Formats: sequence, structure tokens, C-alpha cells
Amino acid sequence: MTDHQREFGVAPDGAWSAPGRVNLIGEHTDYNEGFVLPLALPHSAVATVTARDDRTLRLRSRDVGDRVVELSLDRLLPGEVPGWAAYPAGVAWALERAGHRLRGADVFIASEVPTGAGLSSSAALEVVTALAFSDLNGLGLTAPELARIGQLAENDFVGMPCGILDQMASASCAEGHVLHLDTRDLGGRQVPFDMAAEGLRLLVVDTRVKHAHADGAYGRRRAECEAGAAALGVPFLRDVPFDGLAAALARIDDEAVRRRVRHVVTEDRRVARVVALLDAGRAREIGPLLTEGHASLRDDFEVSCPELDLAVDTANAAGALGSRMTGGGFGGSAIALVPEESVAAVGKAVTDAFAGAGLAAPRIFEAVPAPGARRLPV
Ligand code: ADP
Ligand code: MG
Repeated sequence: MTDHQREFGVAPDGAWSAPGRVNLIGEHTDYNEGFVLPLALPHSAVATVTARDDRTLRLRSRDVGDRVVELSLDRLLPGEVPGWAAYPAGVAWALERAGHRLRGADVFIASEVPTGAGLSSSAALEVVTALAFSDLNGLGLTAPELARIGQLAENDFVGMPCGILDQMASASCAEGHVLHLDTRDLGGRQVPFDMAAEGLRLLVVDTRVKHAHADGAYGRRRAECEAGAAALGVPFLRDVPFDGLAAALARIDDEAVRRRVRHVVTEDRRVARVVALLDAGRAREIGPLLTEGHASLRDDFEVSCPELDLAVDTANAAGALGSRMTGGGFGGSAIALVPEESVAAVGKAVTDAFAGAGLAAPRIFEAVPAPGARRLPV
């Protein structure tokens, strides 16, 4: 008997999967309508779901507590569902707000994506729920539509003002590729990212420092970017050309806003340069751009933390070609591009450095670009 059957007393109608992600580069650019370059992790959230004949939603996570959360689709109100259930409930709310009428459902969630580690466990949960509800209600939503629903749930139901990066990565990434996404129109291109062919590995270092975006720092960065765009008379920072950056910066009085603008504009440029190198089969050469991106997030955008800086500096000193924090920051994870012969040395150096600094042991694993959200065979 499956966990789903034990919990709900019925067999699931299907099973769906949606991955977490790391972002190779393009951080804090999505809500500026800029560019990102994520890959899906092999770690996924899996939902088994049984459609119901009424309007009841029963939600259970293997990973959080031992209770079923029971809600009515007729009484979903933003901010009023506490805890983790707000994510799947928010997805149902967002789908109904978009004009779809849903059947009730029994939903069992089991996820391998570490939570609060900057690896997008929240987006995996949203996207897997959206895809399951889309299939079970015959909605036929596209990947960008699923992503928008997830973002709407997180922004307006959960109350976290995230951009679209995480949800699009979870919904649209392809095995063996990074997704070069234009967050303005959600147009994207799958760029082959065959690290093994070049003798490379991508290490993820989860610092185990829990990020806390929702504490308002993320929202403040967003507001500073909007202030920068307003000062420059453009709709979004994406519209500031890299060639005109120096002139643009000279027109901004506020020192902090000036640095936020510099990060976003140079980061969009770094995404383009990384994509050009990958297209040219020169993945080894992207390392310095990753490290440059980290310095920009640390110094100009001010969203790194000592543990992320330690992971990045130590990995680079031990043989990584380049490293950076990934995700929103304030904790979470870093990535390091490492020649395969240096993987063990880099892992040991980072582990030793954390121990030496009296920090909890980081979780280090290799990321290989995995598929995006999909229905699983049962
Ligand atoms: P991240 O997306 O970087 O992991 P967030 O703070 O955005 O961090 O999202 C983490 C939250 O998502 C958790 O606190 C929990 O509410 C929810 N969540 C993620 N995975 C699960 C899961 N397997 N079961 C229940 N809730 C989950
Ligand atoms: Mg999240």
C-alpha cells in the first residue's frame, strides 16, 4: 500500500513530479524582466493526487508534520492558510482566480528538494501541484502558464514577492540543458550543458544557513530596483543598456540604489556572456564570470552572507574554475564549477573550512541537469 492510500484510503489517479533548481547565473534579474540561466536538479517534489467529487482539498506532506490539512475550495483566502499548505492551496486559489473551476482533491506530497536551501523547494511544490490540477481538470496549461500560477500563489497567497525564475525552471528545464530564459516574455532556449564532455562537474554546497527572504530583505531589494528604474525613466532595469551603464549610474543619487542597478545590469550582461561561451563549447571559461557574479551579489547587491562567501572563496582556492551563491541569498546554497580531478579536493576543503569556522557541516552534492515537471508513469 502506498503512503497515499494509507492516508486517504483511495488509490491516486496519477503521480506528478517537479524539480528544484540551481541557477547557473542571472540572480535577482527576474523581477527586473532580465535574463536567467537555471538547470533542474535531480531532486524533485512528487505529488500523488486523487480527484474528488466535492470541493474539499485534503493536503498531506510526508515531510512536514503528520497531519492532513483540510480546506474548502470555496473558502480559500490569501494569508489565512498557515504553514506549508499555503503553497498548494495557493495554487488552487490562483487557478480558480484565473477562471478555472476545480474539483476537490486528495494530495500527498513527498519531496527530495531540501527546503529553505535556495534550491526552490517552494517552486517545486507549486509547479507539481499546478501540473497535477491542470491534468486532473483537463486544463492543458502550458509550462509558462503553470509557472505564472505558481508565482501568483507565492506572491499573493503565501505573500513572498518572488520573480518567475524558480517556477519557470521547475516547469520548463530540460535534461542536459540550462534554460536561457527571457523573463520579459518567458521566451526561452534550451542550451546544451554537457559538463562531463569537458571533464567538469557542478558542485552544490548547501550551507544549511536557512535563508529568510520573507523577512523583507528580498522585498527591499525589489523596491530598490524599482526606484532605480524610476530614476532612470525606464519600465524595468532590463531596459538599461550595458553600454550606457556608466552614464545611467551617474544619474542616480542614492548610493545603495546605484549599486543595485550596477548589479542587475552587469548580471544580465554576464548571462549573455555565459550563454555565448556555452554555445561555443567553451564551458571551462565561464568560471570567472560565475565568480564575478558572486562578487557583484556580495558587494553591490548585498545578499550574500559569510557562509556563502566562505564556500565560494574556499572552492575557488581549492581548484574550482569559478563559484557563486545561487538563489536569492541571505543563506542557502552556492555552486562551484570544478574540473573532475579536483572534485574531492574542493569538497574536502569546503567541509574543512566550515568545520574550522565552527559551522555545521555543509551538504555537498553534484548537480546534473535533470528534466522539468512531468507526469510520472504509474
Ligand atoms: P526554498 O524554495 O529555497 O526551498 P522557501 O522558503 O521559498 O525556500 O520555501 C520553503 C517552504 O516551502 C517550506 O518552509 C515549506 O513551507 C514549503 N515546502 C517545501 N517543500 C515542502 C514539502 N516537501 N512539504 C511541505 N512543504 C514544503
Ligand atoms: Mg522558494
